[in-house]
Amino acid sequence: MPRSVLVTGGNRGIGLAIARSLAEAGDTVAVTCRTDPPEGLLAVRCDVTDPAQVDEAVTEVERVQGPVEVLVANAGMTKDQLLLRMTEEDFTSVLDTNLTGVFRVVKRAARGMVRARGGRIVLISSAVALRGETGQANYAAAKAGLIGFARSLARELGPRAVTVNVVSPGLTHTAMIAGLSQGRQAAILADTPLGRLARPEEVAAAVRFLASPEAGFITGAVLPVDGGAAMGH
Ligand code: NDP
Repeated sequence: MPRSVLVTGGNRGIGLAIARSLAEAGDTVAVTCRTDPPEGLLAVRCDVTDPAQVDEAVTEVERVQGPVEVLVANAGMTKDQLLLRMTEEDFTSVLDTNLTGVFRVVKRAARGMVRARGGRIVLISSAVALRGETGQANYAAAKAGLIGFARSLARELGPRAVTVNVVSPGLTHTAMIAGLSQGRQAAILADTPLGRLARPEEVAAAVRFLASPEAGFITGAVLPVDGGAAMGH
């Protein structure tokens, strides 16, 4: 039976790779996007900073393909700045999208999973969450917050057979890293045992596994897909 899947920010980058991978595996996949919808997938407009849009998007997905059984909270953004130059808005907007936005989507979609007594929730964090990164105090705080959020929900929702896990990618070949200087990228790769960027499809493979029936006894886990960059963190 195809499952009803929702991937936030699934119109490009890692989210699109995740959506395509789950669709290939036979699931019925919807994505949220703010701008260009991808071809071949149900796309619903949603800015995760707006609770009303989150509610409308999940309602639409439920109407078209049934209650969400697999949720991948992937939408995220960066506003890099050194601490002394980081404005309050730089900090709160990244938290609002990357952490509170995940709370909004998970809370809305989990309702159906609790009712159905089963489901899969996968959150996309980052290797930066526990390692930290110069210029990314806002982003790392949000991504680290996701881990405590996921583990709390793993406890709350475990009795309803809903698993909650985190995938933690290292530097991945998408538009998001365009703002990172060549020097900074080179420094990160020098500190990555596998010495290269991740491909979005490699992150998608980890998500696909955690979302699969085979991963039914894995919850509260943080799975790095980072070429070894964050080992020991
Ligand atoms: P992209 O910039 O390519 O894609 C980001 C996605 O998030 C887009 O679909 C974008 O939608 C969506 N998004 C951003 N803000 C919002 C918002 N307020 N509401 C709804 N959707 C939003 O980045 P990646 O694919 O690289 O990133 C995907 C996830 O992976 C993010 O959570 C990121 O933090 C994480 N990650 C990325 C790494 C990397 O090196 N690339 C490393 C580790 C983690 P739209 O098209 O409308 O802008």
